[in-house]
Amino acid sequence: MGLDLAIKNGTIVDGSGGPRYRADIGIQDGKIVEVGRIHSNANEVIDAEGKVVAPGFIDGHTHMDAQVAWDPSGSCSCWHGVTSVVMGNCGFALAPCRPEQQEWLARCLEAVEDIPTDAMMAGINWTWETFPQYLDNVEKLPKAINYGAFLGHSALRMYTMGDRALTEIATEDDLKQMGDSVSEALGAGALGLSTSRASTHVTPDGSPIASRIADWSEIDYLVDVMARHNRGIFQIGPDVASGAAHKTFLDRLQKVAVDSGRPVMFGTLSTRQGVDPLPWQSQMQYLDDTADAGGRIFGQTTTRPIIALFSVKSYLPFDNLPAWRELRELPIQEQQQRFADPGIRRALVADESGMKPRDNTFQGGGAATTDPKKPDYTNLYALKGVDWDDPTVDELSRMRGQHPVEVMLDLMIENEDQLFVQPLVNETPEDVLGMLLHPRTLATFSDSGAHVCQEMGSSLQTHLLSYWVRNRKMFTLEEAVRMVTFDNASAFELPDRGLLRPGYRADVVVFDEATIKPRLPTVESDLPGGSRRLVQKADGIAATVVNGTTTLLDGESTGCYPGEVLRGNG
Ligand SMILES: [Zn+2]
Repeated sequence: MGLDLAIKNGTIVDGSGGPRYRADIGIQDGKIVEVGRIHSNANEVIDAEGKVVAPGFIDGHTHMDAQVAWDPSGSCSCWHGVTSVVMGNCGFALAPCRPEQQEWLARCLEAVEDIPTDAMMAGINWTWETFPQYLDNVEKLPKAINYGAFLGHSALRMYTMGDRALTEIATEDDLKQMGDSVSEALGAGALGLSTSRASTHVTPDGSPIASRIADWSEIDYLVDVMARHNRGIFQIGPDVASGAAHKTFLDRLQKVAVDSGRPVMFGTLSTRQGVDPLPWQSQMQYLDDTADAGGRIFGQTTTRPIIALFSVKSYLPFDNLPAWRELRELPIQEQQQRFADPGIRRALVADESGMKPRDNTFQGGGAATTDPKKPDYTNLYALKGVDWDDPTVDELSRMRGQHPVEVMLDLMIENEDQLFVQPLVNETPEDVLGMLLHPRTLATFSDSGAHVCQEMGSSLQTHLLSYWVRNRKMFTLEEAVRMVTFDNASAFELPDRGLLRPGYRADVVVFDEATIKPRLPTVESDLPGGSRRLVQKADGIAATVVNGTTTLLDGESTGCYPGEVLRGNG
């Protein structure tokens, strides 16, 4: 039998967590057909000598709903070994959507997720109104990775209730219509329903997004529709405004999980922000308690802090201050010249003292960059690598005997790509490790496609392999690969992905375990219409294969787009 592709001489880490072994893999018609010593001819051969051959990574928490329209590669996730993503998380989605609501929906995505409206209006050909039409549109688009999608509650509510969605409780009629849309979406292959109760999720005018106006009985009703079909995952963005709010949220969510029996997912977060934040340990206990009570529940966690990222090319905490505002409109080199001018410098430093003081309000990536408070320089790092060992601006300021703002100005004069990172949640490595070690959490929360100039979560998988496996030796390679492949495939109910076994879809990543690592991100203006975003690539990945076709070789696109829509009923 002739094969389409053979990956030869590699070390197989098959996604199950079992120990590695040397073998070849034979692929035909998008599937793995042979594992062992391959003697058949193949049209294409990848020599994986000295490299690890693993299932393609799966990321269940992304916001690539808009980007899929203009970026066939699926960056930045595709550069980190990711071959499948789930979009439509946290209730945000581009379907269902009436034509007159398109721009408003785009503005909401910009307000919450920092996806520029201009890029969306320029880059999306809105040919759909309903969720099934949206999925059909994604099906037709050229794409190098696979996409599954949740039906987003905020979009659904706006579609059903119009502007009433932003102020009113649903009527019985509204509920019935929304419930019918949930059934319709499940029939078309939605992976489930997503929503958000997060205090940081607001419309462009600062009011709560539509899903937050819903009462819990509306959530009960919609999740019950999934329960009646015995199908679909429920994903929800938690309310972490304070420890008390968080606890109330979790208690109520437990009832949804137990009553419905559907898999429930939410972000487990460690934070020092807000009033009396709920420690991550209580959230882990909650996962076990909910499981004991009969719920099927998963915590989504990252592998690194969730951050606000600043640079001269994107946001700085000082952008809205009088002496800064006009200067920040200038070309970068001119900004750098002004940063060095003693008179201007004094004014820039002086302005900082008038910044909004820090308080107990929980800020997400959005507000932290667009509505910043006076920085805590002991929690603002001048990035020099991706290994979590960078100096704080406060440390540099003491070392150099300079005001922290002067330190930042000098670093930005020296290097226009200098990045400053403010951890927002999951601040310390040990907290992140504690959550990752819990068997009911999933390593998946990149927010890829969102916070395009504020975050760099798309490197979650390469960070896991370089930092936690190679540097810290907290997981074996086999365990870490299982976390981002089989564990996520199981939780997101993708039955034929996440393992390298005959019969499974041929999503494969070939990498060097000694060198795999995310690179430092850079700010590029490569969105439709020229908007900027962070671009982060990785070292050490030799090849990526999606549905049996090679999509990336040494980080370069092959120009092939074999990605598919992951349909929940498929
Ligand atoms: Zn999200």
